[in-house]
Amino acid sequence: MKKLTSAETLVLINHYKNLLAAEGIPTEVRNQHLGSIMGEMPFFETWPQLWVVNDLDYDRAKQLIEAADAESPAESWKCPKCGEENEGQFAACWNCGYAIDD
Ligand SMILES: [Zn+2]
Repeated sequence: MKKLTSAETLVLINHYKNLLAAEGIPTEVRNQHLGSIMGEMPFFETWPQLWVVNDLDYDRAKQLIEAADAESPAESWKCPKCGEENEGQFAACWNCGYAIDD
């Protein structure tokens, strides 16, 4: 087991997990239930983490994640409806639910 990456949201971690599963690389998500004890731990350590089950898959898994990141640049955007800043990988506003695809 080797830690691949961590991300602020479980949505993103699950996105990576599905991506790697499609390539036949088994992974495991850790920290996904730690949200409730936020505040009792340093913030960063409570982020969900993605671990690769077989160390031999590590390099390839890392490349796939980097490639996926490059495909969808994480440039933040401002919601035209409520004015909130949103991270680029999200197609809908976290605050009001406005979808930029519409
Ligand atoms: Zn909004």
